[in-house]
Amino acid sequence: MIKAPKGTKDILPSEVYKWQFVVETARKVASLYNVKEIRTPVFEHTEVFLRGVGETTDIVNKEMYTFLDKGERSITLKPEGTAGVARAFVENGLHNLALPVKLYYITPCFRYERPQAGRLREFHQFGVEFLGSSSAETDAEAIVLAKSFLNELKVDGVKLYINSIGCKNCRSAYQKALKEYYAKRYDELCPLCKERFEKNPLRLLDCKNEQCGELAKGAPSILDYLCEECDTHFTKVKNYLTALNVEYEVKSDIVRGLDYYTKTVFEFVSVNIGAQGTVLGGGRYDGLIEGFDGGNHPGVGFALGIERLLLLMENTGKEFKAEDCVKIYVAPMGEKAYVKAMELVYSLRNCGVKAETDHMQRGVKAQFKYADKIGAKYVVVIGENELINNSVRVKEMATGVETEVSIDNVKEFIINA
Ligand code: ATP
Ligand code: MG
Repeated sequence: MIKAPKGTKDILPSEVYKWQFVVETARKVASLYNVKEIRTPVFEHTEVFLRGVGETTDIVNKEMYTFLDKGERSITLKPEGTAGVARAFVENGLHNLALPVKLYYITPCFRYERPQAGRLREFHQFGVEFLGSSSAETDAEAIVLAKSFLNELKVDGVKLYINSIGCKNCRSAYQKALKEYYAKRYDELCPLCKERFEKNPLRLLDCKNEQCGELAKGAPSILDYLCEECDTHFTKVKNYLTALNVEYEVKSDIVRGLDYYTKTVFEFVSVNIGAQGTVLGGGRYDGLIEGFDGGNHPGVGFALGIERLLLLMENTGKEFKAEDCVKIYVAPMGEKAYVKAMELVYSLRNCGVKAETDHMQRGVKAQFKYADKIGAKYVVVIGENELINNSVRVKEMATGVETEVSIDNVKEFIINA
């Protein structure tokens, strides 16, 4: 038997309603915030992620699905959504639109990771990017949009952590302090962090290794090194959140995995889904578009992992809006009745009624069983006699009540039922 690749998951018809509910809610909330959808390719030139994610990140170093295509081009399956959006923003001159350009995406992502609960090789993100504004208002709106989305899904037990990692200016002083701190503890670092120490010390705070985590606790805080502009910006963001009653906690070791972040960073974390608790992560990335030679267009955004969100909703017993059930099942008996049944379900469907009929030449009893299985609300049998008398009995399955209707009136009866 051929199995799906490790770290991938089929989304089966029995659970797809959960996905549809989450995706519909994402679209609805995005629309309330006047955010438009953007769809970018699932694969890009590898360069897009080298520039847009950063060469010192775990994603670029270890996790990308990169290959040469038949034209010898280096291609990468998107490991995240932001870099492709940035590339599209520059390529299509979207800075000419009214600013800020507010975009969202729902996309599969691919990362070569060790699969475990909430960590897959193909997963899905709902992401939002606001481009062309450097203001604290925009940061606050990105966070609040995420919050609205989680509220709309009635997700609870998720904590919002925020931090500021400053700009280039304040970060260089901080990195120096950080390196001084870690230089004394270099031998205790994991091999990966030894590399990080050289290449990108900020990422030392982000290590999932336990011992590194302990060391991070004693490290200097970026918040003591913010320049005046970054400090004012952060204060404004916090004030907006407070004014909007969005609870948050400042956590100075949140640095986020990607290289392009500046100033505000944030995460929504749940304690209900084990080690992979970060459902959503985001932040400001003022240098990203410039990294694509697209000029100075600051931005802020976030991405949420849909699988982790579903895990969280399932673990906390949240309701998912189910798909509408079949309103009527038409059970034909005999050749002529099949034509009538097809006609009837066709015209009902054309009127927006979810209708179903037999495809398997089942007997009447088996058809009722089937109708029950698919959750049909009404069943009507059409046989020889019904055709001769132009009369059928429409049965309401829940109550067993039968109503006699002429065949021509079944449609109207069901539409109004
Ligand atoms: P983590 O620290 O858990 O590895 P990350 O920092 O790599 O997460 P981001 O790149 O910020 O994650 O991606 C945003 C969101 O996408 C995460 O918060 C998570 O919900 C989801 N996500 C990331 N990687 C995976 C994965 N391999 N499988 C499932 N969901 C993922
Ligand atoms: Mg990761």
